[in-house]
Amino acid sequence: MVVLDRFAGGGATALSGGVVYAGGGTRQQVEAGVADSADAMFGYLRHEVRDAVSEATLRRFCEDSAKMLAWLEDQDVPFSSSVCPFKTSYPTDDYYLYQSGSEDAWPDPVPRGHRTRAKGTSGKAFFARLAEATRRAGVRIMPQTRAVELITSDGRVTGVRCRTLSGLPRAVHQVLSQAGAKPWLYYPPLGRRLFGLAAWLERRFARSVTVVARQGVVISAGGFIADRAMVQENAPAYRGGLALGTPGDDGGGIRLGVAAGGKTARMDKVSVWRFVTPPSALQRGVLVDADGKRFGDATRYGAAIGNEIVERGGKAWLLIDDDILRVARAQVRTQTARFQRWQVRYLLNRGLVTAPTIEEVAAKAGIGTPEPVGTPPFSLINVSVRAGFGYPCPMLTLGGLVVDEETGQVQGVPGLYAAGRSAVGVCSESYVSGLALADCVFSGRRAGQHVATSTGAGEARC
Ligand SMILES: Cc1cc2nc3c(=O)[nH]c(=O)nc-3n(C[C@H](O)[C@H](O)[C@H](O)COP(=O)(O)OP(=O)(O)OC[C@H]3O[C@@H](n4cnc5c(N)ncnc54)[C@H](O)[C@@H]3O)c2cc1C
Repeated sequence: MVVLDRFAGGGATALSGGVVYAGGGTRQQVEAGVADSADAMFGYLRHEVRDAVSEATLRRFCEDSAKMLAWLEDQDVPFSSSVCPFKTSYPTDDYYLYQSGSEDAWPDPVPRGHRTRAKGTSGKAFFARLAEATRRAGVRIMPQTRAVELITSDGRVTGVRCRTLSGLPRAVHQVLSQAGAKPWLYYPPLGRRLFGLAAWLERRFARSVTVVARQGVVISAGGFIADRAMVQENAPAYRGGLALGTPGDDGGGIRLGVAAGGKTARMDKVSVWRFVTPPSALQRGVLVDADGKRFGDATRYGAAIGNEIVERGGKAWLLIDDDILRVARAQVRTQTARFQRWQVRYLLNRGLVTAPTIEEVAAKAGIGTPEPVGTPPFSLINVSVRAGFGYPCPMLTLGGLVVDEETGQVQGVPGLYAAGRSAVGVCSESYVSGLALADCVFSGRRAGQHVATSTGAGEARC
């Protein structure tokens, strides 16, 4: 078996929070004394993801969920049963099991967000453990190797044409892509520069390699949030956000599948993250639009809020009273992870306007006058998509290649499979924290297991 990666490996997964949505009685839930069942998980997810996948597939996803988490533990990915006692978009390093979706707005809330046990954002540890397990299993890994074309024979995908780097250009490309990943996300001008140099190395030094794949090819090359033209074409309402991923999310994998005869779906679905917690007190606030009209529910998951904001033209504010602001400020120290702190401090200081009356605060924010709530003074926090540098709005694409839900095979293309954000999956209609990684593992294992039952083996040929 051969794994190809255009960069050094890891993609958005290694940058992620490492939260895996799992339930139905995982070891961690049982240890924490949390009562859950596959039926309860199915009930909540059906409401959340609607018809992203068939009922039978979602049921299988829920029924296999606890086993899937145990399988991840078998690959040395560590989880923990310490339940977070407050609502947050991401727990501090004291907690690893939390309500990672809109559970507070659901009658039977259960914590199912299983964060990989590691300090800071845990995606790096999640990926590193899986990469080690892959190496231990004897899989050949070819980094700095870009898939550029699928080879077909008699209507079946039988290989991949690639451009690969070796020697010094490969080493420099690796350093640039590793050093550029975080800046690309958090300080795009620097990230673009570093990846621009990496792309130049590819153009100048890469040579062609053909990988013959008799058993099948699985595309798991991420989504397309890094390709502005593709986002504009498929989801034009989603502009002005922070591209949540890596330059590998350029839709290249999806395009390879389409060129081989595959179809796409849900390409207009984008997850827009507008978290108002932590601090948890802010979920008591009221969301209002540019006319001052109340909408939505601040207790819901950040992507549910984000999508409602986009539907209102991208402009929104969170109205809070004096009590909420005081409690929220007092919660910053204990409820925020280090990477969240600067943003929360920005929101509670420069990101808001305050005035003694509701009319004055609305005038300061430049919006219609909302109904007053609570006790003055009132504050309005700008939670618009383009609220400013201190509060960027992350976005990731959810649509992709349409696959057979039993096997992961790209519909109508024998020998070709797709997984993760290159494919339509459980989270393709709407995302809650942990559901992307859970779907990546679910769909990746499904495709892998199916390919493994085919005959033959992949080999690299230069
Ligand atoms: C900051 C951040 C936090 C997040 N937190 C969470 C979370 O906690 N839980 C959760 O569920 N989701 C989270 N997400 C979303 C989640 O990480 C992604 O949706 C998921 O990791 C996508 O996985 P993937 O395997 O589809 O793509 P990736 O992990 O991006 O992997 C795709 C790989 O394909 C490679 N590639 C691309 N094109 C080619 C090509 N042509 N040839 C060869 N290789 C190619 C890329 O280099 C990359 O390594 C987060 C995302 C970000 C950015």
